Amino acid sequence: MAHQVVKERVRGAICVTAHPEGCRRNVEAQRDAIRATPVEGPKNVLIIGSSTGYGLSTRIAATWGFGAKTFGVFFERAPEGRRTATAGYYNTAALNRLAAEDGLYAGGINGDAFSDDVKRQTVAEIRKNIGQLDLVVYSLASPRRNDPRTGETFQSALKPIGDPYTGKTFDLTSGAVNEITIEPADEDEVAGTTSVMGGEDWQWWIERLLEEDLLAEGTRTLAYSYIGPELTWPIYRHGTIGVAKKDLEQTARLLSETLHAKLGGGAWVSVNKAAVTQASAAIPVVPLYMSLLFQVMKDQGTHEGCIEQMRRLAFDHLAEGKSIAVDGEGLIRLDDLELQDDVQQEVARRWDEVSTENLGELADIASFRRDFSALFGFAVDGVDYDQPVETEVRL
Ligand code: NAD
Repeated sequence: MAHQVVKERVRGAICVTAHPEGCRRNVEAQRDAIRATPVEGPKNVLIIGSSTGYGLSTRIAATWGFGAKTFGVFFERAPEGRRTATAGYYNTAALNRLAAEDGLYAGGINGDAFSDDVKRQTVAEIRKNIGQLDLVVYSLASPRRNDPRTGETFQSALKPIGDPYTGKTFDLTSGAVNEITIEPADEDEVAGTTSVMGGEDWQWWIERLLEEDLLAEGTRTLAYSYIGPELTWPIYRHGTIGVAKKDLEQTARLLSETLHAKLGGGAWVSVNKAAVTQASAAIPVVPLYMSLLFQVMKDQGTHEGCIEQMRRLAFDHLAEGKSIAVDGEGLIRLDDLELQDDVQQEVARRWDEVSTENLGELADIASFRRDFSALFGFAVDGVDYDQPVETEVRL
């Protein structure tokens, strides 16, 4: 037992503590955004990368939107003595408890999804507790991957390709807008990022589940991507991560052929909107872009976070009676509102003007900071951060 007061301790783009009560309330709020209007939809769902960000919201949408049995794979630090767990651990503990209260099955494995061992354990658990899956969502965001075939570790890099990139960025702690120059990636960094964030591991998961006869007739599988506006292309779409995402799209085409032929199912990439998550907060340039974007979208009344996006995906594309709608390249586009011309023109205008002095006027910095803190269970309404809480929570 470790009953203690937990304070936010930010180091760069990450917070090294997490608040269990704040995390619990975040999960509850997402559940409440979904469960008022349940619909029929997939009933047996595996989410790989299920504990934070888009994967967590997907899981919540499936659990309370469809009443699905869900199985989550995630990689989080458990609490140890006075050291808090990571936010994804507390989120998962809260989700498990809330699902159980509503009589809904929520199973999971805390371990490295890239490993053979975790795939093997997942297969065994799903066979025992769920049966054949009708939806598999791949929502991993990781800085590295240990390749189980060779034991080699690949790192993901967030860099431009070809030329150095110089652009604006902002420092979350000081609030200063600075120029940064990021040197281009070398070939190994491009290959490393593709190994970590591309489609290979998604493909292995689906092949494994097929071999084990754990995919139902009509099974669908999805992975997530981001495209964003031209403003961020040097670092995103045309950078190392963009190459990895193209690989993911290629994998979707391959998997779709296989799933269609064998089960009448398919594979898709859903292009989601920019949202504050642990992964996106770590990408250079993107936090400044997001805080300008959110201000513009809030002014228009079109701003969405992960749960609103995943609600749309679940209810408009995956629910019974709906079919998955795609653009000319076969991609699901949940980033439509972000990429509207008027939104992007206004963001581009603000981007040219923004400086440390006018950041507060042009960008929604206060909400960005709050959203960032909330990822770790801080700055959540109704939580008294001066009160001790039990941090040794069990999953
Ligand atoms: P996130 O950091 O919030 O979530 C990552 C998840 O992956 C967590 O559940 C974590 O536990 C899990 N994970 C990481 N490494 C793992 C491992 N080795 N084994 C098992 N689990 C592991 O990230 P996110 O922003 O929600 O990203 C999820 C996906 O959504 C990514 O493909 C990302 O590119 C995509 N996406 C994100 C945004 C955005 O703005 N955040 C926009 C569009 C698409």
